[in-house]
Amino acid sequence: MSSPFQYAPAPESRSIVDIAPSYGLFIDGEFVDGTGEPFKTVNPATEEVLTEISAGSAADVDRAVAAARRAFTRVWGPMRPADRGKYLFRIARILQERAREFAVLESLDNGKPIRESRDVDIPLAAAHFFYHAGWADKLDFAGLGANPRPLGVAGQVIPWNFPMLMLAWKVAPALATGNTVVLKPAETTPLTALLFAEVCRQADLPPGVVNIVTGAGETGRAVVEHGDVDKVAFTGSTEVGRSIARAVAGTRKSLTLELGGKAANIVFDDAPIDQAVEGIVQGIFFNQGHVCCAGSRLLVQENIHDEVIASLQRRIGTLRVGDPLDKNTDIGAINSHLQLERIRELADAGEAEGAHRWQPACELPDRGYWFPPTVFTDVSPAHRIAREEVFGPVLSVLTFRTPDEAVAKANNTTFGLSAGIWTEKGSRILKIANQLRAGVVWANTFNKFDPTSPFGGYKQSGYGREGGRHGLTGYLKGAAQ
Ligand code: NAP
Ligand code: MG
Repeated sequence: MSSPFQYAPAPESRSIVDIAPSYGLFIDGEFVDGTGEPFKTVNPATEEVLTEISAGSAADVDRAVAAARRAFTRVWGPMRPADRGKYLFRIARILQERAREFAVLESLDNGKPIRESRDVDIPLAAAHFFYHAGWADKLDFAGLGANPRPLGVAGQVIPWNFPMLMLAWKVAPALATGNTVVLKPAETTPLTALLFAEVCRQADLPPGVVNIVTGAGETGRAVVEHGDVDKVAFTGSTEVGRSIARAVAGTRKSLTLELGGKAANIVFDDAPIDQAVEGIVQGIFFNQGHVCCAGSRLLVQENIHDEVIASLQRRIGTLRVGDPLDKNTDIGAINSHLQLERIRELADAGEAEGAHRWQPACELPDRGYWFPPTVFTDVSPAHRIAREEVFGPVLSVLTFRTPDEAVAKANNTTFGLSAGIWTEKGSRILKIANQLRAGVVWANTFNKFDPTSPFGGYKQSGYGREGGRHGLTGYLKGAAQ
């Protein structure tokens, strides 16, 4: 379709961020050098090296845990809950004040579009701190038992897809409930966690309450396996989650696992098609599909299949793929070369197994890691792309005839994190939602997040909940659910 409007880029300036040539670990309120082999973090949209990062060894993790323990026993544990709340409110306000800086840094280090880091990741991270700040002095009245007590030191490990938001999901509830933390960000996206360390200093948070230990998987393992950690909270792959569950079994540690997903997004023939198409796009292409709860399996009622696919393809043709710092960009860069390889491998398997691949005509930048939005039709439930998490902008389309068949296909997965239902009938929403084995079910919308709402999975998607009143229980001793 020809348009009277010419496209012009609207790049966000990166001058607001100040990236140092190298970064240390944040332990006991100070930046210190790690004793592991330093590593580099790159901008996945350009492959430009952004800076060098210290790697934490087991000895560094030990120092961080000791600092967290001291802070827990001497300062944070005994502190009046209302005063803890004040620190959290202060952190939340600073995150809002510095939101643009956080958003640009997140897009540079992760590759996600600035529109998303600016409008979703960072505002939601601040919202998590505001929400939990409010709980700090009300835990006795939260219906979680008479006198819920903190567990102690929390060891937390997070992935690269929502670096700052995952930090907020972990740190805010831990601090609000009186715990101290040692957090390991993902190797490819450590920068916003290090900026957060600066925010902790700006907020005068007592030293040792938050410690950030950067590094690769081995550093994460040292955090999880440390003998003086009382609570382990992990978000990441099912594979690593399983090894953590094994490592923690038989210890006194409490464990929360937020793992992968393969969500069904179910579209019935009475759904408003245009809205559903927006929801399908949002469900799978938000954050390049690097979303554990992405609507990666589209289940569409057979009689509207062709209409939905035609409309979906038209809409995908209008998506802009490219520079994450351009405010017009819908789909940014794939976070790492490794992830790009995984996506390519699974997409190739889709074709080899007989599904039909469709991609819009779209120009990809020469440098950096890119994958175009992709739709597979003629997918059967046995195909790898219908069963395995792609964690990229790849949608698998399956069909169904009856509601019962939709439910059976939706539940035919080893995961159970989220699902979506598109229909005009409220009664159908309630009935189907009750039958879906998924932690979160969205109706006539998708990928909506709120700190007041618990999030978590069934089956291989993990256990425990984050967010809401339920999320507090994972950080409290003797808390009734
Ligand atoms: P991953 O390999 O499991 O990594 C997650 C984190 O664990 C990273 O910080 C990683 O360090 C660290 N790690 C790796 N091996 C470890 C070990 N043996 N012990 C302790 N920590 C270890 O996952 P990913 O590939 O980065 O992330 C994508 C996965 O996360 C997807 O499967 C997705 O579904 C899941 N996810 C789930 C949620 C949720 O809320 N349920 C949210 C986001 C992502 P490195 O960075 O150095 O590898
Ligand atoms: Mg990076």
